[in-house]
Amino acid sequence: MGRKPKQYSANSQFGASKGKKDSIGAKNSLGKEVKIRQPKEIARLRGMRDILPDEYKYWEYVINIAENICKYYGFMKTDVPVLEQMSMYERSSGKQSDVVTKEMYNFIDKDGDKVALRPEGTPGLVRSYIEHGLFNLPSQPVRMLWTGNLFRRDKPQSGRYRQFTQTSVEMFGEASPAADAQIIIIGYLILKELGIDAQVHVNNIGDGSDRENYAKKLVDYFKDRKNRSLLSPDDKKKLLKNPLRVLDSKDENTQKALVGAPQIIDNICDEVRDHFVKVLEYLDELDIPYILDPFLVRGLDYYNRTVFEFFSADSSGNAQSALGGGGRYDSLVEFMGGRPTPALGWALGIDRIILKLKENDICIPVVNKPDIFLAQLGDAAKRKAMIFFEELRTRGYQAAQNFSKDNLKLQLEQANKLDVKLTLIMGQKEIMDGTILMRDMESGMQEVFDFKKIYEELDKRLKN
Ligand code: AMP
Repeated sequence: MGRKPKQYSANSQFGASKGKKDSIGAKNSLGKEVKIRQPKEIARLRGMRDILPDEYKYWEYVINIAENICKYYGFMKTDVPVLEQMSMYERSSGKQSDVVTKEMYNFIDKDGDKVALRPEGTPGLVRSYIEHGLFNLPSQPVRMLWTGNLFRRDKPQSGRYRQFTQTSVEMFGEASPAADAQIIIIGYLILKELGIDAQVHVNNIGDGSDRENYAKKLVDYFKDRKNRSLLSPDDKKKLLKNPLRVLDSKDENTQKALVGAPQIIDNICDEVRDHFVKVLEYLDELDIPYILDPFLVRGLDYYNRTVFEFFSADSSGNAQSALGGGGRYDSLVEFMGGRPTPALGWALGIDRIILKLKENDICIPVVNKPDIFLAQLGDAAKRKAMIFFEELRTRGYQAAQNFSKDNLKLQLEQANKLDVKLTLIMGQKEIMDGTILMRDMESGMQEVFDFKKIYEELDKRLKN
């Protein structure tokens, strides 16, 4: 007998662990020297996720609610490829961004093209908007709704995976503050509908020139030795490359150093301020709970003006607890080769929302619960039952079966587990007589019916 492969527990959500591989040296597809690890067992990759049938109901439930609310607000389902040119992400997110430098899965394909697995959704949707000339559509603004997988080669931990799912909305061609408020409201309403006590953290990071001026002020603030000495080595590097990113540092000492730092909200021009005041007025009007968070900047360079994140009010507020986030990106369409087009959007992290639902013991309704179980006994009955089962489906009944079991007792046990109202039993005798046996699962009463009248009887009993 061969060696038994190691079993990975369904709960080990981060995927196969390290240390089970032999290494050999080689060059990767981008020409870098790497150690190629030879897996000894076939197992899923670290940080990748299997979603098993028992878990899937959460996914369907959350994505359905999210998408239905977005559709009600006029967003139209769209899909774009998982694989895109790597240069697209370099352009949209910045060659120096963490997403591009550290997290992106990229390789050179057999045609010699540098390609990347999508680390974020917005750039692909912007590309698609430009490539298909959607600014020409008669109905503007263009509202896109998208659900899909993303890949980031981050350090896996609870709530942070290397493959995860987002539902996102993007609105193109709308500059008004009402649009900012509306998309924030939609995200909030989705979380509320899911039973999550959601809270919005919101900030305004100004337009290009506001940010440039502010970045200088921030750098000046950290020229003071007292402030600078508190910065972590990583944040010192950020201060040189992208000063605003220091604001959302998770380092405790950096956070202390930021207490007296100038705030971006005090350094935005009048037009941007007016825009932001109006956004907040809409949120107030609709009673959306929000917190002004001067340190919220979002990780990507393309955002401007309103930025926001969704949290659950009972969350710890750490980096893994954001349930979604987004903002305006008014320059991105033009930057990626399109016409100047104001745009904005958000993405909700479906994996994290599901973790939250489970943490809060939120029950999800059972969908398509069967009313009928069809049991069979003997070969001839099984053949007839298979035809009848399909007829039940086409006539709109919710039925279940287990044709791989021949034992009636086991079939009845399954019917009990499924909590069906009625079990229909077809055996040799019923086939010969042109009848069918019906068992009311609540009362345990069994009656024989003429097979031709079965639908009449089912309708009578399942009416309510
Ligand atoms: P981002 O695209 O980084 O703005 O993320 C939007 C949302 O996606 C976050 O608020 C999270 O809920 C979720 N998310 C981001 N990265 C991950 C990850 N690595 N694993 C699971 N969810 C994630």
